[in-house]
Amino acid sequence: MSTEKNILVLNCGSSSLKFAVINSTTGDTKITGLAERLGSKEATITVKYKGNKQVTELTKNNQHLGAIEYLVSELHANDLSDSLTAVGHRVVHGGEVFTSSAVITDDVIAAIEETSGLAPLHNPANLVGIKAAQATFPSLPQVAVFDTAFHQTMPQKAFMYAVDNDLYNEKGIRRYGFHGTSHYFVSREAAKHLQQQDDQTSVITVHLGNGCSICAIENGNSVDTSMGLTPAEGLVMGTRSGDVDPGLIIYLMNQHNYSAQQIDNLLNKQSGLLGLSKLSNDCRTLEDAVFGNDEAQQQQAKLALDVFCYRVAKYIASYTVALSHLDAIVFTGGIGENSNYIRSQVISQLSILKISLDEQQNELARFGNAGEIQATDSQFRVLVIPTNEEWVIARDAAQLSESK
Ligand code: AMP
Repeated sequence: MSTEKNILVLNCGSSSLKFAVINSTTGDTKITGLAERLGSKEATITVKYKGNKQVTELTKNNQHLGAIEYLVSELHANDLSDSLTAVGHRVVHGGEVFTSSAVITDDVIAAIEETSGLAPLHNPANLVGIKAAQATFPSLPQVAVFDTAFHQTMPQKAFMYAVDNDLYNEKGIRRYGFHGTSHYFVSREAAKHLQQQDDQTSVITVHLGNGCSICAIENGNSVDTSMGLTPAEGLVMGTRSGDVDPGLIIYLMNQHNYSAQQIDNLLNKQSGLLGLSKLSNDCRTLEDAVFGNDEAQQQQAKLALDVFCYRVAKYIASYTVALSHLDAIVFTGGIGENSNYIRSQVISQLSILKISLDEQQNELARFGNAGEIQATDSQFRVLVIPTNEEWVIARDAAQLSESK
């Protein structure tokens, strides 16, 4: 019988389920897994435990519940099921209802259902995971942790679109922001690093992964962020365009007969690094192409990364407007944590703010190495801090289920 207290963290997509068992105190990950292509004959589940990776076809039940049943058998087999004290669920959209994480009750489920219109692909999938976990672990408290909640402190001037006010009042159309758990986590880690109180620390956090967003955090609170009503706004991403002229959409519809579905595909799946480079949505592949020998590829990849970095730099500069002081700029996410090239390209465009990097420190801060990478004469500090969204979910789940 295990004496440890662990949290099962679940992140359900429409055809996928990511899970991890995490010690909420230490952040230690005991086991992780990813079920993919759920609902199809090709459904598989990959489990990583103690350095071993095992891929299994889900033949008996290829739905979310089947994946959860499989993960339960793995937890039993590895003596982890008795150690679970709660289940933490990542929920993408909490609307204006959820300003923090919540213990899941019937009312909470109803409120998540109500906000589903704002995230029609994500919230219903999150609910499938919640219901499957409730059926599987009826005695464990379940906690919902929302991607949007951290940004609920944004002032109205930052979250309103300058469109007819009725759209906000009647339909809830406004900027919500996402990646909240990541911006929250790295801002708290930054405060620790700077040996400052959370509520006295102001940072600009730059999350660059396949999805990308940036957040201005004033004395611990999110005051602006680049994603909006949906995650499509803001920075250039792997396959999303980020900011475009809204007139572009009307033009494509009127002049080129694009349907809503085609525009959705274009802006969310065929744009960003992939659309610009015509090579890949993956930053590593594009960096390899920039430094490779194929001249055509080199140019395409460079164009994509140039647009990407310029947009990030522009956002960093503009977010200084949202803050009364700035303690540090913090890079995180797969690209932010690992690519000294991207960090260098971004910061080199901020010389007017007198920010510059120590390129040696910049090169060292990769592959999980946190660090300060600014030059000695830089006006602001620049930090690299690996994010850990699962640990935030595990901590919230542990804390809320204990205080219940
Ligand atoms: P994430 O969504 O946070 O997992 O980040 C995925 C992105 O991080 C992809 O574009 C990867 O190419 C990028 N990435 C991961 N490692 C590196 C690296 N060493 N150099 C450049 N980009 C990287």
